[in-house]
Amino acid sequence: MNLTILYRGSLISCNYGCEYCPFAKRSQSAVELASDRQSLERFTDWIAQNTQHQFSILFTPWGEALIHPWYQQALAKLTHLPNVNKAAIQTNLSCKLDWVDDCNKERLALWATFHPEWVSLEQFLAQCWELDRRRVRFSAGVVGFPKFKNAIASLRRQLPSHIYLWINAVKRALSQLSEADRQFFDSIDPLYHLNTHYYPSYGKTCRAGESVISVDGDGTVRRCHFIKEPIGNIYDPKFEATLFKRLCTNETCHCHIGYVHLDYLELDKVFGSGILERIPETV
Ligand code: SF4
Ligand code: SF4
Repeated sequence: MNLTILYRGSLISCNYGCEYCPFAKRSQSAVELASDRQSLERFTDWIAQNTQHQFSILFTPWGEALIHPWYQQALAKLTHLPNVNKAAIQTNLSCKLDWVDDCNKERLALWATFHPEWVSLEQFLAQCWELDRRRVRFSAGVVGFPKFKNAIASLRRQLPSHIYLWINAVKRALSQLSEADRQFFDSIDPLYHLNTHYYPSYGKTCRAGESVISVDGDGTVRRCHFIKEPIGNIYDPKFEATLFKRLCTNETCHCHIGYVHLDYLELDKVFGSGILERIPETV
């Protein structure tokens, strides 16, 4: 079967400390990082062994993963496996980029977020240009605070025109957003409006739990990152039995990595094969 996995291991540290980040405000010991590495290697071995499935994988760490060589190595390994269609990762793009040449770039993708308070526009842009030069598929994006408008406008002007730039809506502050600010974000990201909703999801069918799952470092399977109840474990030889169509039990869903799997939104038609790395078919 075709199975999409959102992997989030025990990494909870970052080299940045964004004010708006709900996690990654701490450092981790060598022992904790070694445990994260071990779990990741077990996961990639499991993917390699389960040749009866075709996998698409998005790493959604609670921190910055690509500053650690074991995540770079995992992407290199996964993208060369015949049963992996796509291996993507969310990143602040602060790492060196030479490792991407070890990957099969046909199957690699990055979701790169610019954090204007932690890196200069020039540094982030240089990394984007470098990715583009190395022919890596990626989206770039910024959290939609009005205070970042100048930086966002400069980023759009200087990014290669074929790179999609998304804006994450700050939903708790939407009611205070001026019409001019909203129009600005719409002008930068034609799909900004998609990210401004708490989509009703209770009782709706969602691919999460059937063909999309969330997996943690111990192999515990949840339907998605937003419903905490475990439904199985990938290291259980009969884990496929836990995959079937389910109705969402949350009232709403508001994160791209969740709501894009809600059947009724039909966002697979908007994002197509770029759904994991957040690149629409056409902009
Ligand atoms: S770069 Fe990402 S993970 Fe790191 S502190 Fe900022 S928002 Fe959090
Ligand atoms: S709609 Fe969102 S919260 Fe509900 S199952 Fe799907 S991804 Fe999870």
